[in-house]
Amino acid sequence: METPIPRRDALKTLGLGAAALTFSPLLARAQAPAAAAPAASPTTAATAPAGPFMLPPLTYAFNAIEPYIDARTMEIHHDKHHGAYVTNLNKLAETNPELGKKSPDDIIKDLAAQPEAIRTAVRNNCGGHVNHTMFWVQLKGGGGGEPSAKLADALKASFGEVAKAKDAMNDAALKRFGSGWAWLVVNNKKLEIVSTANQDNPLMGRAVCGAEGTPILGVDVWEHAYYLLYQNRRADYLKAWWNVVNWADVNARFDKAMA
Ligand code: MN
Repeated sequence: METPIPRRDALKTLGLGAAALTFSPLLARAQAPAAAAPAASPTTAATAPAGPFMLPPLTYAFNAIEPYIDARTMEIHHDKHHGAYVTNLNKLAETNPELGKKSPDDIIKDLAAQPEAIRTAVRNNCGGHVNHTMFWVQLKGGGGGEPSAKLADALKASFGEVAKAKDAMNDAALKRFGSGWAWLVVNNKKLEIVSTANQDNPLMGRAVCGAEGTPILGVDVWEHAYYLLYQNRRADYLKAWWNVVNWADVNARFDKAMA
């Protein structure tokens, strides 16, 4: 049975509690007009180390991809969830300065190089940082475009037709039990669809996360990505998400991975 969940309960689920409901600047910003520039995160600025890892600002307003994904979800997801991964990563770098000398992608490609004491924390937080950095730029309001002819041909070669590739990605996303991601990857110059748990990324490699390849499109299926608007209805969120996929970014990643 699909009982609508009151917003207060949804916020509790996110660990925000009643305080967030009365914090007016947060609500005001969530309702800002589309033209408003995204503001810096108040939480990450106050107490967190300034670097070496940085939360990339959204290049569009929180409400830019409504009605498919709501402004409040975008704000909490970007500022609080992604913000926390960056904050945690910077805290790890304070006591492990070697961490800050590598790029986030290079860190997750070689987790075995990390000291065992911090390896799981690096895996979760650097994975979260890499995954979300890609996720934000792959969203676009007002129609996200189409796969390039070259990418469409490759999708047809691997999946029969473009629509079947989308079905396969939805299927992988729906079958991911609990929290994780579904990915379209280039692996040995071929397109494949895989999924990973938690904040794992195919760049971590098959031995670490059960998947491999270079991600060219990723969808976040953690409940925090859709719970306020879609509650438990992951399939509805996925259907909506396809309307705001920024195909120009996917096309560019495909070209780079195939080069
Ligand atoms: Mn997320």
